[in-house]
Amino acid sequence: MNPYSVCVFCSASVQLPEPYIELARQFGARVAREGYRLVYGGGARGLMGSAARAAADAGGAVLGVMPEVLVKREELAAGLGENIIVGSLSERKQRMADASQIFVALPGGIGTLDEVTEMITWNELGIHTKPVLLLNEFGFWDPLLEFFRRGRSVGVIRAGLDSHYAVVDTLDGLFERLRSERRAEVSV
Ligand code: AMP
Repeated sequence: MNPYSVCVFCSASVQLPEPYIELARQFGARVAREGYRLVYGGGARGLMGSAARAAADAGGAVLGVMPEVLVKREELAAGLGENIIVGSLSERKQRMADASQIFVALPGGIGTLDEVTEMITWNELGIHTKPVLLLNEFGFWDPLLEFFRRGRSVGVIRAGLDSHYAVVDTLDGLFERLRSERRAEVSV
């Protein structure tokens, strides 16, 4: 059986400030040290690659899920653990979701936004019951949270959306939450 698996969605960009890269490294290393498996997009670049390398370097299990069309563009990470090549971005999302018990969004762009909002949507629709955590270091997700607030005030977003994701401000807070979610799952 696979260990409790944490799926990370994050940037594939190579042009990020050092504190963002360091955050991804610390996240990956702590995932491994706490005994979780890291599930990620399979790329060697950007925060994705930094988190996965740090997890593998710390001795953790890593699963990368990469769509065939992106293997060259995003550079499939070799030697970090298991890699699965899938046919499309949609299939990647599904495989990452199926393989994981919980989702974490680190800073990312349009791809990350697509992935994390889909996991929130699936949670809201009852397609899965897996928790979705936004790591809000640097206040990165504040504009998205403001969008959710605005959407609620206009009425385009249901009042209950808040119960389908959680915001954590620091890595310590994130790992506390991961531990309590894992305990809750084990005790069910
Ligand atoms: P980004 O957050 O934009 O750096 O992208 C993170 C991951 O999502 C990368 O592997 C991207 O290839 C992928 N991605 C990029 N754009 C999209 C999109 N429109 N829909 C789904 N995934 C995407």
